Amino acid sequence: MSAAVIVREVGPRDGLQLVNDFLPTNSKLEWITQQAGAGFSEIEVTSFVPPKLMPQFADAENVIFASNKLPNMAASALALNLKGVMRALDAGADVVNFVLSASEEHSQSNARTSTDEAIGVFKNTKEWQRKNAPDSSITVAIATSFGCSLQGDVPEYQVAKIAAQLAEFEPAEITLADTVGYANPLQVKRIFKAVAAEVGNIPLAAHFHDTRGLGLANVVAALDVGVRKFDAALAGLGGCPFAPGASGNIATEDTVYMLETLGMRTGINLEALMKLREDFALWLPNEPLQGRLGSAGFARTFTYAA
Ligand code: ZN
Repeated sequence: MSAAVIVREVGPRDGLQLVNDFLPTNSKLEWITQQAGAGFSEIEVTSFVPPKLMPQFADAENVIFASNKLPNMAASALALNLKGVMRALDAGADVVNFVLSASEEHSQSNARTSTDEAIGVFKNTKEWQRKNAPDSSITVAIATSFGCSLQGDVPEYQVAKIAAQLAEFEPAEITLADTVGYANPLQVKRIFKAVAAEVGNIPLAAHFHDTRGLGLANVVAALDVGVRKFDAALAGLGGCPFAPGASGNIATEDTVYMLETLGMRTGINLEALMKLREDFALWLPNEPLQGRLGSAGFARTFTYAA
């Protein structure tokens, strides 16, 4: 049976962005392999940004190359410009997730470009891909869709307008990202509805950070308006180094647990995730592990969705 909801693991990418110690490639691959084995159909395994800016991803090519050999798992990679997309596709990424920002100030800080320029770059990227790599899949994420720690408010109509512009270039999927944990459930419903009205049948996905404890409430709100794909990071790692005050993603294990208790099949083996968490303590001894399921354990009454 296919999953009713897809949880995309972004730990090896978003999760490692704020981790200062370089996690050796072998440990990354062990992590990705175990998670693919636990039932994940898509894992964002790395980021094709300049290694000078993000030394954590200096091994991006090797990580993609090895991840591609895992069965039944699409390895995706993040990129911020055409050069990054070309590197990712050259290395053999199944999916490249192009990220731009709804907030002008975050756009300048993260990608050194304006939002409008980034939309233009996405257009060129899609044109290049159609000609040169038609079998690959390019998705797009709109960072700071729910507010920005640099700029403050990000107008809702602005997010819908950006999504409408991006939809013209036919991305395989559009993700709305709450990069700095500013979203609340009512806002999540409003913005996803406004965006859905603009983008035709392009599937939408949600990327929430649990910076202020609203992450899972936001997942439920997005479910309510039809979103069926969610990013999450094991042990709640993560955060954007170019947005002040950013902290961890919603924890994958808590998200999967909640979805299963809501009767939504994820196809993911939670016991395997609990075991993998134990390895984290060895691999990343300086990183506090987040997530409630890891400390509380399963309720006696827990059952997977039928
Ligand atoms: Zn993020």
